[in-house]
Amino acid sequence: MKYERIYNFSAGPATMPEPVLEEIRDEMMNYKGSGMCVMEMSHRSKVYQQIIDEAEQDLRDLMHIPDNYKVLFIQGGATLQFAMIPMNLMKNGVACYVETGAWSKKAINEAKKYGEIHVVASSKDRNYSYIPDCSDLDIPENADYVYICENETIHGVTWPTLPNTKGHVLVSDQSSMFLSRPCNVSDYGMIYAGVQKNVGPAGMVVAIIREDLIRDGLDPKVPLYLSYKTHADNGSMYNTPNCWAIYVCGKVFKYLKSTGGLEAMEKRNIEKAQILYDFLDSSKMFHGTVDKAFRSLMNVPFVTANAELDAQVIAATKAAGYDNLKGHKSVGGLRASIYNAMPKEGVAALVEFLKTFEAENG
Ligand SMILES: *Cc1c(COP(=O)(O)O)cnc(C)c1O
Repeated sequence: MKYERIYNFSAGPATMPEPVLEEIRDEMMNYKGSGMCVMEMSHRSKVYQQIIDEAEQDLRDLMHIPDNYKVLFIQGGATLQFAMIPMNLMKNGVACYVETGAWSKKAINEAKKYGEIHVVASSKDRNYSYIPDCSDLDIPENADYVYICENETIHGVTWPTLPNTKGHVLVSDQSSMFLSRPCNVSDYGMIYAGVQKNVGPAGMVVAIIREDLIRDGLDPKVPLYLSYKTHADNGSMYNTPNCWAIYVCGKVFKYLKSTGGLEAMEKRNIEKAQILYDFLDSSKMFHGTVDKAFRSLMNVPFVTANAELDAQVIAATKAAGYDNLKGHKSVGGLRASIYNAMPKEGVAALVEFLKTFEAENG
């Protein structure tokens, strides 16, 4: 490989499409004749305004975002949204959450500071290895929204169908699956994603919010910066935005458009994940930790029979150029994050390596 790059299975920040990195490299010293790098530019300049406008438009094109939804670029990562969502969307001070893993649990704990939280379903009983039945949830009439984490990055579970919210607003954390497949935006009141999993550099969230949910009249102690209205009224530039992340994400949006959009991306992601899941289903040494119906296409946790062998495999993969495969401590074992930018060849090569490891050590 030109730059001796490895296959990086990190859960985030994570691998990026190489053509995007190459474009950024080429534009580093002089962005399109401006004589400057994008990180040196005023966010109020015409040249930067075009970057942010195009990023938003390309995302709108990719996801077919309806006109009555705002697209916001906000700093603070996905974690800040755990607080901004209840601060902004609670009118009655009541919300429902589905607990499906580490990230929804964090969101629940934060939201509890702001109102009455109903955990209407949970998969905690089996260490978050499935999505609970959400076809008939007990949702109070005055609930302001129903919150889900649509792909649990640590536990590797994903929602095959959305919950029945009984007419209430659905809010979804799509951080680790954003743009991995087509998405019907109008099924949601709000979608948000920390971009360092499947799109770009760390430190920014893309929030897609239905306009009627963006409002005045928040608690006067809510900082201006934490009101969606502040960001919406100022085109995501109330203050200096994360200029660099917006620039890089914009490149990734264009790249996805040029490679067939989200339909094509989903097809590649299914093929790619299938290679790994087929291996896990046939292996005697390794097995997946998630019930088949809820397996993520993006984050694949798997284990051997014991922690010692897990550690041995992780060390061996790392030495062979497959990095960041150690699972999160709450699940143990290994986890392969195989986001949009992970090529099929990377997954196939990892599977070949694991097969050989099994044959030699089984
Ligand atoms: C990583 C992650 C977060 C937290 O993102 P930060 O940008 O680190 O705050 C939240 N939700 C999910 C699903 C994640 O994968």
